[in-house]
Amino acid sequence: LPIHEAVLGRAAEFGDVPALIDGTDGTTLTYAQLDAFHRRVAAGLAEAGVRKGDVLALHSPNTIAFPTAFYAATRAGASVTTVHPLATAEEFAKQLTDSAARWIVTVSPLLDTARRAAELSGGVEEILVCDSAPGHRSLIDMLGTTAPEPQVDIDPVEDVAALPYSSGTTGVPKGVMLTHSQIATNLAQLEPLIPAKPGDRILAVLPFFHIYGLTALMNAPLRQGATVVVLPRFDLETYLAAIQNHRITDLFVAPPIVLALAKHPLVAQYDLSSLRHIISAAAPLDARLAAACSARLNLPPVGQAYGMTELSPGTHVVPLDGMREAPAGTVGKLIAGTEMRVVSLDDPDKDLDIGEAGEILIRGPQVMKGYLGRPDATAAMIDPDGWLHTGDVGHVDADGWLFIVDRVKELIKYKGFQVAPAELEALLLTHPGIADAAVIGVYNDEGNEVPHAYVVRQPTAGDLSEGEVMMYVAERVAPYKRVRQVTFIDDVPRAASGKILRRRLRELT
Ligand code: ATP
Ligand code: MG
Repeated sequence: LPIHEAVLGRAAEFGDVPALIDGTDGTTLTYAQLDAFHRRVAAGLAEAGVRKGDVLALHSPNTIAFPTAFYAATRAGASVTTVHPLATAEEFAKQLTDSAARWIVTVSPLLDTARRAAELSGGVEEILVCDSAPGHRSLIDMLGTTAPEPQVDIDPVEDVAALPYSSGTTGVPKGVMLTHSQIATNLAQLEPLIPAKPGDRILAVLPFFHIYGLTALMNAPLRQGATVVVLPRFDLETYLAAIQNHRITDLFVAPPIVLALAKHPLVAQYDLSSLRHIISAAAPLDARLAAACSARLNLPPVGQAYGMTELSPGTHVVPLDGMREAPAGTVGKLIAGTEMRVVSLDDPDKDLDIGEAGEILIRGPQVMKGYLGRPDATAAMIDPDGWLHTGDVGHVDADGWLFIVDRVKELIKYKGFQVAPAELEALLLTHPGIADAAVIGVYNDEGNEVPHAYVVRQPTAGDLSEGEVMMYVAERVAPYKRVRQVTFIDDVPRAASGKILRRRLRELT
């Protein structure tokens, strides 16, 4: 099925159930409205000239209008490329040019950036706005159009529904072609494991423009009749207040939010008793941190999911009804209809045994069609037998639970040993004086790659020294894993999806 039908197929049945609530001002959109509105906006977009195969750039923070714009665009036949709302005009222009976007849908506060990006790229036919702005066609106005609903012939297997860009953690973000059926299949695969129903309330603060938010906070809950409470950006107090005031039941987060929930003093001031599950994905989450968070909130253990943009995105998840049985630190079990191999880092033809760490390979119906305009990068990622090489290192236990160690590219090679930054970061976070930490490999004077820790002190730990940090680690790990250099910083640079931007740290050294 086309994605808008796969998601909104039961919208009429859910009727008056709130689909989306603006967490800031309480504005509510019911399922009946979402269904009707996206059809009207699809008609308006077709009237404006949007045709099958056009690429439409959706440039907006999380709002209750975002899903309407997205599903309207796909119903009109467009492929949607989602854009970071804080992208500079230059970054946005690159994405417009790379994706050959003909249309921009933005919001009035971001209009200046969108205009400059369109000028720089040159290929954009028109800029529309979700809200309203003089001289621009508005999606709200389209609700009044009498134009007929477009009848576009979509081939779910071939046609690209979404063109999200990967996070750019390891290099330039790459446009990922995901077809309607790849996304819809992945939703169907995940649904039995992370079910939702009318009455469930999900807080959407991770961005919809990233594949994790698009799936976990938009497509999956809206397909099942849950209510999505939307916040445009993360701010801990607003976030905690929204959980309390909207009686949020389920959180899909990234590790920095788990860290805040586990450690921040503000958490104690809010009534978070409506919460039932917390799922974390997008970056490594330490088992001790997860346990501290669930113990503090009196919840079942924080579950995890694993995936990547190129996998539409999920392949592993801890089922909601299995959170207590799952071993600590696992990212979950392989979903149905998908194959996995763990292969040697030295020899990709050698499959490893249970418990041995190697690169994770995935084959299944959710593997991307390819990187847009980068056949070489696609061929480097997906081998001729259809296996996608994730670039992640992990191991599986006898019951099939997967554990992620780190990315192949991030492993620090110290005198022939491999050190995972994620392990050291997790250990550093157990120090009461450390609020946040990130580790990268740097070359020391002897030419050895060694772990260098960037550490954010707790406000209360003013005099924590570099030597103390190194000693804390040295007392707890094998000698080859020791942190050998420490720098104190104010903030760990992170992508919108919560990932540590290690290349920014590299620029500091
Ligand atoms: P780029 O590919 O542009 O360098 P990226 O890989 O960060 O950026 P995404 O597709 O957003 O882009 O992220 C996928 C990656 O996120 C995975 O390859 C994996 O490294 C990491 N990841 C996702 N979920 C988890 C998890 N539960 N635990 C550890 N790492 C995870
Ligand atoms: Mg990647």
